[in-house]
Amino acid sequence: MHLRYPRLEINLSALTENTRRIVELCGEQGISVIGIIKGATGIPQVAEAFTDGGVNVLGSSRLEQLRGIRDFGVDKPLMLIRVPMMSELEEVVELCAGSLNSEVSVLEALNDEAIKQGKVHRVVLMADLGDLREGFWDKEELVNVALKVEREMRGLLLEGVGTNVGCYGSILPTPDKLQELVDIASEIEGKIERKLDVVSGGATSSLMRVVDKNIPEGINSLRIGEGILLNRDLGLFYGYDIGGMRKDVFTLKAEVIEVKVKPSHPKGEIGVDAFGKRPKYVDRGMRKRALVAIGKVDYGDPAEIFPKDMGIEVLGASSDHTILDIEDYPRNLKPGDIVEFDVNYASIVHLTNCKNVRIAFIESKN
Ligand SMILES: *Cc1c(COP(=O)(O)O)cnc(C)c1O
Repeated sequence: MHLRYPRLEINLSALTENTRRIVELCGEQGISVIGIIKGATGIPQVAEAFTDGGVNVLGSSRLEQLRGIRDFGVDKPLMLIRVPMMSELEEVVELCAGSLNSEVSVLEALNDEAIKQGKVHRVVLMADLGDLREGFWDKEELVNVALKVEREMRGLLLEGVGTNVGCYGSILPTPDKLQELVDIASEIEGKIERKLDVVSGGATSSLMRVVDKNIPEGINSLRIGEGILLNRDLGLFYGYDIGGMRKDVFTLKAEVIEVKVKPSHPKGEIGVDAFGKRPKYVDRGMRKRALVAIGKVDYGDPAEIFPKDMGIEVLGASSDHTILDIEDYPRNLKPGDIVEFDVNYASIVHLTNCKNVRIAFIESKN
């Protein structure tokens, strides 16, 4: 029996280790972790590795993924972390313990639906602190809506407030920024005369404050995906190294289908490539190249996959082919050989969404 390629191998024990490490790190500072599964398209075994590692609430932006892990048997509370669509509220209430919210009209409809289903749905109201994606911009409006939920919506429980930074506007979760959220929480708490359960201070980027031990007192929850799955971005972009994290959870494997020595500059009149772009080609003379049977359809952008071995360089790709320069690669590649790549957030999102890519699980402890 031949293994089928391309494959994305997921080391579940490494993933569980990573989860445990992040849960402990946050736990030491009184912060609980919501495990965000959308980076790996909600693969149920990934969700299970999160819960094995100590995560007690799972979240995704997509209901289909939450439905998938529930059907698989994951029995933790689920959280919808994209503001719900009006068209999905019935399922949101049925499936999810709670959701992130920013619109009064949606809250009113959620309230009606929860009452109809005889449930109490938890809501976290989002504050936009400058990243300019979801959330109330007007902080007074946010406070007023919180009071309305608390006093008038018996189908909803005002669980807390939250924010998201670093996703669209590239805003950093500085202590000052996060303090703004704590201040909003305090104002609401003063008015409703009780503590909020959740003050949700962002995603993986907020782990920088946990590492620096300067996360404002009062932030008690983070929603973490990338920081557990890959733990790549904080080190790469900000020089933050959280010790003891496994970087080898995901390995992409693709099969060689052609190896030839060819010119490095195309021959003939140059028009546009398969995607209508005009790339620059560098003439480095005749070079040994390999084609692997994987392409943009599978991973998105060839700049987002990284050959594990030295001496292999990704030159470019079309939908179904990736072209590698292997002139400096010491091994003698031939058709049928397998080339391994590391991935990043952008490429795993695509790879796990692509039905051409086989997902395989490994448990090695090395
Ligand atoms: C995607 C997302 C997260 C998780 O982001 P990571 O950077 O993967 O940790 C958290 N909160 C919201 C609202 C999100 O959309």
